[in-house]
Amino acid sequence: MHLIFSDQCIKHEMGESHPESPDRLTAIYSNLEDLIDSHKLFQQEPLQADAELIQLAHQHGMVEHIFNLSPCEGYVVIDPDTQMNAHSLKAARLAAGAGISALQLIEDETQKSKQAFCLTRPPGHHAEHNRAMGFCLFNNIAITAIYAAQNLNYNKILIIDFDVHHGNGTEDIVKGHPNISLISSFQHPWYPGSGVPAQSSNIFNFPLYAGSGSEVIGQLWRDQIIPITRRIAPDLILVSAGFDAHQEDPLAQLNFLDEDYFFFGKTLAQLANEFCNGKVISFLEGGYQLDALARSVRAYIQGQLSESR
Ligand SMILES: [Zn+2]
Repeated sequence: MHLIFSDQCIKHEMGESHPESPDRLTAIYSNLEDLIDSHKLFQQEPLQADAELIQLAHQHGMVEHIFNLSPCEGYVVIDPDTQMNAHSLKAARLAAGAGISALQLIEDETQKSKQAFCLTRPPGHHAEHNRAMGFCLFNNIAITAIYAAQNLNYNKILIIDFDVHHGNGTEDIVKGHPNISLISSFQHPWYPGSGVPAQSSNIFNFPLYAGSGSEVIGQLWRDQIIPITRRIAPDLILVSAGFDAHQEDPLAQLNFLDEDYFFFGKTLAQLANEFCNGKVISFLEGGYQLDALARSVRAYIQGQLSESR
């Protein structure tokens, strides 16, 4: 599997006690080092997206605003949850370019692996067409999906989002898109409050009550998410991989376990093998309890590797 990673993304920081902290990347990375050393993960630097690429998913004025806001020192506040420091713009441009780098790798016939994980921050799924919010500056996964549809002729792109929060930004950007579908599970009611009902027929939203755990999510995948994926028969699978539905995560009240993330990874790899030559690109979204986050990312990657061809 390709691991798209830049240590520049560690320098983005939003204040000392902010849960979306640089430590998230270092915790995940150190728990993957043996997989890198044993060549199960191939590390690659992401490309740095320019404004034009980011504008595939965002309004021109919004992108210009974020580029201009970037401070030389200290913080600028975008919303109560979201700030920028001097390194945030560069990190955000790398996070926005990571999916394109992943696409180039899985399109390259000389590269054996068709799986990629973008270990970048800031996350992206709350960033709407004309608004950065909720720890997110640019919508990394939506930029990649639209690029794949416009430039690489994919016409049945499926985005799956298992972050505990509804990906309002992704829904806002891809609703009604003829070549992109979105399946999403999330705690509801909870931040950001959106997602019920879904805004168009290419969006499949599954709100979950607080307290839902392995049994509920396993059944949801078996009864809905897998059958819908089979019906779509995607030619590319993109995943908003958030790990904040974990039982130990402090930001929400779902009770997923490490093994649920292994199951997601394994099942997605099986579906990708069945429909799209194994092509799966995942994007790190949330996950704020560092131990649980590092274990869950590893379990998710191990699940995918267990089915890699
Ligand atoms: Zn989240």
